[in-house]
Amino acid sequence: MIQVIYWFELFLVLPEHYAEGGMPYYIHCAIGTWLLFNVVGNYVIVFFLDTSIRGRFLSSEMKPNWRFCDVCEAVAPPRSWHCPVCDMCILKRDHHCNFTACCIGHENHRYFMMFLLHLSISTVYASYFNAIFLWRCTSFSVMGVLKLVFPVALFMFGGDTSQLQLYRLFCVIAFIGMIAAISLGCYHAVNVLNGQVMHERVKGFIDYDLGRKENLRQVFGERWYITWISPFVKSPLPSDGIEWVSVKKTSAKSK
Ligand SMILES: [Zn+2]
Ligand SMILES: [Zn+2]
Repeated sequence: MIQVIYWFELFLVLPEHYAEGGMPYYIHCAIGTWLLFNVVGNYVIVFFLDTSIRGRFLSSEMKPNWRFCDVCEAVAPPRSWHCPVCDMCILKRDHHCNFTACCIGHENHRYFMMFLLHLSISTVYASYFNAIFLWRCTSFSVMGVLKLVFPVALFMFGGDTSQLQLYRLFCVIAFIGMIAAISLGCYHAVNVLNGQVMHERVKGFIDYDLGRKENLRQVFGERWYITWISPFVKSPLPSDGIEWVSVKKTSAKSK
């Protein structure tokens, strides 16, 4: 849907606001294309980066905080967890993401966060123009409101199969995407700033909180402040995902 919404915004919504061929139109096209590049680029990298223990050189001895995974039949480092879907222990496992069909862990955490950031910005940006677009083409009657609130039902079951109703559907999808991306983004941003993964947050473990700036470095790498520009900005991670220094500050939740 991301590419469909991009096409819809650039070639149907934007010309309603700005004359095609004018400078403002091209500036918005450039911003929209950069956002799409970041959304798709980060998404693809999340999927292809292997963040499991597979192929890593792991110690065969059981160190403090390490555990033995019966399924992988290997010792696994701290913060790694076995994912039943990927069937593998994942380094600094955050969660299994059904949307990207892979685990979010040490290597791809940066790209997942940047995917959410750019998806949030894109959908807010699109929803702003969509709101004006809808305002102009919606009649303020019961039927007009129903078409906005239940766009799929009206489109699928023949209530309104016009092209305009399909456009309303795209606007609603962008709006729902905005709510989902912002909610998820805020939840995961708090975890990143606190130096936690989901499991640690649920259990109340604050064992790896190195301070806001250092926590950002741990996820986004040495050049964390420019990783928002492109998924191809090189930013090596300070940790190898295997050795972790614990600064135990167990919260009241875990007591
Ligand atoms: Zn395992
Ligand atoms: Zn998984």
